[in-house]
Order: sequence, then structure tokens, then C-alpha cells
Amino acid sequence: MGDKLSRRDVLQQSAALGTFVAFGSVACSKPAALACVDTTGLSATDMQVRTALVYVDKSTEVGKTCLGCLQYVPPPAAGSCGTCKIVKGPINPAGYCKSFVAKPA
Ligand code: SF4
Repeated sequence: MGDKLSRRDVLQQSAALGTFVAFGSVACSKPAALACVDTTGLSATDMQVRTALVYVDKSTEVGKTCLGCLQYVPPPAAGSCGTCKIVKGPINPAGYCKSFVAKPA
């Protein structure tokens, strides 16, 4: 019965598998997409403006994103939501609305 695994073998293989899973989950994880959709605390008027200008968290307009808009105010730390001089609430640099104005080159 040489096929039986010893307790030591099982523990060693479990440890190796655990290391592999831990490494794999870190190596395969990509940063979550930035979501700037929490409008908690905005007034009804601010929400109306946001809705009327059809703000979207991810632009579908080629070459037009909030990051390239004159009205965009970047966040103090990269990787978080910015703000806008027109649309209140969190603004995704990849977002877009009808008031887009390209930054001068
Ligand atoms: S005006 Fe519109 S496109 Fe420009 S930064 Fe504000 S939300 Fe984005």
C-alpha cells in the first residue's frame, strides 16, 4: 500500500496549494473599475442637472471623456473620482456628459 499519503505529504501539498492559490489570486486580480455613481447627498436640483446633461460613468463618445474636458477637476489622489464645475457629485475621468468642452491643446 505505497499509494497512501502520509499526514506530512498531505500537509505539504496543502501548504503548496495554499501558496499557489494566494499567489494566483494576487497575480490575476486587476484593479476594480472606478465607479463614480454615488450621488448620495446631492440636492434634487443637482440631480436634475446631472440627469439633464446625461452624465454617464463611462463615455461612449470616441475621444471625449471628462479627463479631457475643460470642466473637469481632477481628484487630489490618482485613482479616485474627480469633480466637475457644472455637474455635481463624483465624476469619473472616463465619464462624459452633454456639456463636454475639450481642453485646449
Ligand atoms: S462637463 Fe460633463 S464631460 Fe465635462 S467634466 Fe463635467 S461631467 Fe465630464
